Amino acid sequence: MRYSQLFGQTIRQAPKDETTANARLLVQAGYVDKLMAGVYSYLPLGLRTLDAIADIVREEMDATGGQEVRLPMLHPKANWVATGGWDAIDILFHVPSRTGREYALGSSEEEVAAPLALARLQTVADLPLAIYQIGWKFRDELRSKSGLMRGREFLMCDMYSFHADQADFDRHYATMKDAYLRVFRRLGLTAKVTEASGGAFSDKISYEFMVVTDAGEDDILFCPACDWCVNVEIATVAAGAPCPICHDATLRAARASEVGNVFDLGEKYSRAFERPVRGASGGTVYPIMGCFGIGISRVMGVLAEICHDDRGLVWPAAVAPARVHLATLGSDAAVVAAGEDLYRQLASALGDRQVLWDDRSVSAGVKLADADLIGLPLRVVVSARTLAGGEAEVKSRDAADARRVPLSDVVSGLPGQVAR
Ligand code: ATP
Ligand code: MG
Repeated sequence: MRYSQLFGQTIRQAPKDETTANARLLVQAGYVDKLMAGVYSYLPLGLRTLDAIADIVREEMDATGGQEVRLPMLHPKANWVATGGWDAIDILFHVPSRTGREYALGSSEEEVAAPLALARLQTVADLPLAIYQIGWKFRDELRSKSGLMRGREFLMCDMYSFHADQADFDRHYATMKDAYLRVFRRLGLTAKVTEASGGAFSDKISYEFMVVTDAGEDDILFCPACDWCVNVEIATVAAGAPCPICHDATLRAARASEVGNVFDLGEKYSRAFERPVRGASGGTVYPIMGCFGIGISRVMGVLAEICHDDRGLVWPAAVAPARVHLATLGSDAAVVAAGEDLYRQLASALGDRQVLWDDRSVSAGVKLADADLIGLPLRVVVSARTLAGGEAEVKSRDAADARRVPLSDVVSGLPGQVAR
């Protein structure tokens, strides 16, 4: 990939009106474009990172036995009336039609997933079932000032599961908690599991997955000893109080962002749509439903908050839009030729998408500043000076110093995470 051809390049001036790092850096580095508050276009670099996060989530959802589907975003009003959500859910977008009908834009998809799945389930022998999708959601958020972290349109992975009894639900719940924690570990995030209210969906306790960041919009209390964690919204304890679980430390307060949430919906949806299944020994059973959501685009925002320094983004290799940033400095023909040769070698070893070659005729200062701003894991520089020794200069984005590497050894010497 040649930077001169790339759609969506860096912007000199950081957007002035943004208060969060992710909103500033992702726009400035050419990952996204803000159409209006809470609504973004993903440019090629941004889409690759978003897709990389989604792919990790997809692998872990598949591993739990979930089956991927794609559900509609435009919903009939009747489904939302059946569950009470049409009037009760304040963030639901209502869409009038010229035919006089009304629709909802999916803020979550229980109203579609439940009747879809339950219509295909005949008896308890057909349970359990888990379907999931990675799809866009719409919410009429009052404020949307945190970049990708609070979209009015955002990408979520939402799973819906159906169970014959509470014990089976609890088993799946435990599986999903582990799967979520694996997702966040693979993304390089430390997620705390927080007890919270079931919110608009349910009167039961739900579990939220919280990543500590000042750009988050939730207040949590956590125990530094046993990691017990609670959302302040519902807490009956306060910062400085002894941990009610381990009693070994006092609770600390932090700002955090909710990156995932799992809910026990009980029989609410199977009853709302009047869809029982046949029991094992006759009679009917109302399946218990679970819902599990990870905010994929919010995770991208949170990663940008956590993985940056004062010069720009510092992506973990797992979600970087490409692995190597090759920069040729100066217009010396020998430098350009050596750069092009190295570009071909790297592209054939890693795939063309994994190598971004800054082949522009701009100053060395601009190229190096842009490499830091874009934040790919490894920077390789070829200049007249390095070429004099038959070398390139190689530097990890998160390292202080660069190394000189013979041109012929750059590909074979790629660090493990980058070469993978
Ligand atoms: P919040 O409290 O932040 O408004 P929520 O609890 O209403 O979020 P859920 O209904 O639990 O959100 O949705 C599941 C997941 O979707 C959340 O854990 C979060 O990661 C993500 N999410 C929710 N709202 C947004 C939004 N406006 N923008 C981006 N991601 C979101
Ligand atoms: Mg939630």
